[in-house]
Parts: sequence; structure tokens; C-alpha cells
Amino acid sequence: MTADSAATSPSADASPPRRRRAMRRVQVTRIERLSPRTVCVTFTGDDLGAFAWNGPAAHIKLIFPEAGQAEPPIPQRDGPRPTRIRTYTPRRFDPTVPELDVEFALHGDGPASNWAAQAEVGQVLVLGGPGPNYQIDPDADWFLLVGDDAALPAIETILEELPADARVRALLEVVDEHEERPLATAAQVDITWLHRDARPERADAALEAAVRAIELPAGNGRIYVGCEAAAMRRIRAHLLQDRGLDPAMMVTRGYWKLGAVDYTDHDYGTDGDD
Ligand SMILES: Cc1cc2nc3c(=O)[nH]c(=O)nc-3n(C[C@H](O)[C@H](O)[C@H](O)COP(=O)(O)OP(=O)(O)OC[C@H]3O[C@@H](n4cnc5c(N)ncnc54)[C@H](O)[C@@H]3O)c2cc1C
Repeated sequence: MTADSAATSPSADASPPRRRRAMRRVQVTRIERLSPRTVCVTFTGDDLGAFAWNGPAAHIKLIFPEAGQAEPPIPQRDGPRPTRIRTYTPRRFDPTVPELDVEFALHGDGPASNWAAQAEVGQVLVLGGPGPNYQIDPDADWFLLVGDDAALPAIETILEELPADARVRALLEVVDEHEERPLATAAQVDITWLHRDARPERADAALEAAVRAIELPAGNGRIYVGCEAAAMRRIRAHLLQDRGLDPAMMVTRGYWKLGAVDYTDHDYGTDGDD
């Protein structure tokens, strides 16, 4: 575990021993613009049926083509790490087709975001994973889900798994009201949508302020935080130091980092698997 992730509770990441996973060639079959800055891309592939969907807030690695490449090659196990490899959330998987949805936040200039903005049916990527997921604690009295647009797919998968008797507060930061979308869940959920400050250095500042202001219920709570890495660290420090919460209550992840290319709070190895 790194400084940017903490997983120490019954509801923390299930972290089995790291093992090498297959990289597979996947092809775009559908593209849906969910909002002005969010694209859902559906992939299929010959061996995608063997994709081991493992629950909410898991992650995959996607390799994007370099300039001039029609499609990215599957990397050699002992070869150099591809430069255009990024981490995404398996949003929905249907093994019967098989097909896998990935929701891309179009944040601006980056190989993954740029690719998603121009994605076309028939294009090919290389996919590795899935890696460890989030374990929902069935005994939790309440849940607090905190995330920005990069973590929204992960939070959606958590919401979809939560049972009807779960009490949930969700604080979600997106660019503006056009990025707000209906979230499916059986749980009793109270969602607050927050809008991003236009200054890049203030990314997730609204999220941080909302966490600082929130009144948390008593009892056995579980907290998931996924957002910009520096904001995540400040939120985590606040929860631990100012509120005195037990680290076992929370999983915190840096999903991206201001000014950093291919930032990830995990090291999945050089060939892009986990
Ligand atoms: C476990 C995990 C799961 C993730 N799942 C998803 C997912 O399902 N959907 C999704 O959209 N993202 C997801 N992300 C975040 C995604 O991996 C990063 O946003 C990634 O950096 C995007 O790659 P890129 O090539 O577009 O930009 P990079 O080349 O990595 O970065 C280029 C520039 O863009 C900035 N940047 C990168 N991401 C963002 C952002 N989100 N907002 C604002 N600026 C940014 C960087 O600071 C840098 O300056 C996930 C991350 C993790 C760790």
C-alpha cells in the first residue's frame, strides 16, 4: 500500500497477492456520450468472456495507441512499460456478449482523455486486469462516498452494490451541472453535487470543503474517497486528525494528480497488469 491508498478495514480493498494478469486486445463496439464531458465506451474481445469481474471500484489498465499506430501492441512481459497506459474502472460487464463498459471523464489534454474524445467503433485498445476491488462492509451503519468525475464510475459501481437498508451520503464534484447524472442504487442515498472551481489548482476544493462541513452520524461508518491526490491527502488528514476517525473506517485513493502524467496511487508493474 502506498501513501495514497489506505485499505485497512473490513470494507477496505481486498488485496490478494499481486499476480500477473493477461493483457487482451479489445475492440470498441459502442460509444455513448453520457454528458458533455463523459463518454461511455463499450468494448468486446475474443477472450473478454474470461474477464474476471470482481465487484465495485475495481480497476483495469488500458493501453492507448502511440501516434502513427493503428492499434497498440500487446506489451512483452519483460519489455518496457508502455507510455500510454492508464488506469480505469470497469463500469459494467456482461459476460454473455461479452462486453465491458468504461466511462471516461474528458478532462482535457492527455492520451486517454484525447482518445476517448475521438473514439470510434472498431478501434482497438489493450486491456489488463481487473485488479482489486472495494469490499462493502455489510455491517456498516452508514457510508460516505466522496469523489470527483474520475472516481464517479467507481462510486456508481459501489452504489449499485449497496443493499436497500444502507444509509449513504455522497459528495460528488463535477465540472458543472451538465455533468450531474442519475445514479442507480437500491440504497437510501443523499447526494450532493458540487461544481468545480475553474482554476485548475482548486480542483476538488469544493469536495474538500464539503467533507470539512459534513456532520457524520455516530456508529460504524465506512468512507470511500477518490479524487485528485493532493485533495485526497488533505481530506484524509482532516478525517484522521481533526475528526479523530479510525483509519480502519476509510479507503482513500488518488485517482489523478494535478500536473502529473499517468499518476496512479498503485504500482501495477511494468507490463500494465496488476
Ligand atoms: C483506480 C483508478 C480508477 C480510475 N478510473 C477512472 C475512470 O473510470 N474514468 C476516468 O475518467 N478516470 C479514471 N481514473 C483516472 C485516470 O486514470 C486519470 O485521469 C488519467 O490520468 C487520465 O489519463 P490521461 O492520459 O487522460 O491524462 P495524463 O496523461 O495522465 O495527464 C495529463 C494531464 O491531465 C491532468 N489530468 C489527468 N486526469 C485528470 C482529471 N481526471 N481531471 C483533471 N485533470 C486531469 C494531469 O494532471 C496532467 O496534467 C482512475 C484512476 C485510478 C487510480
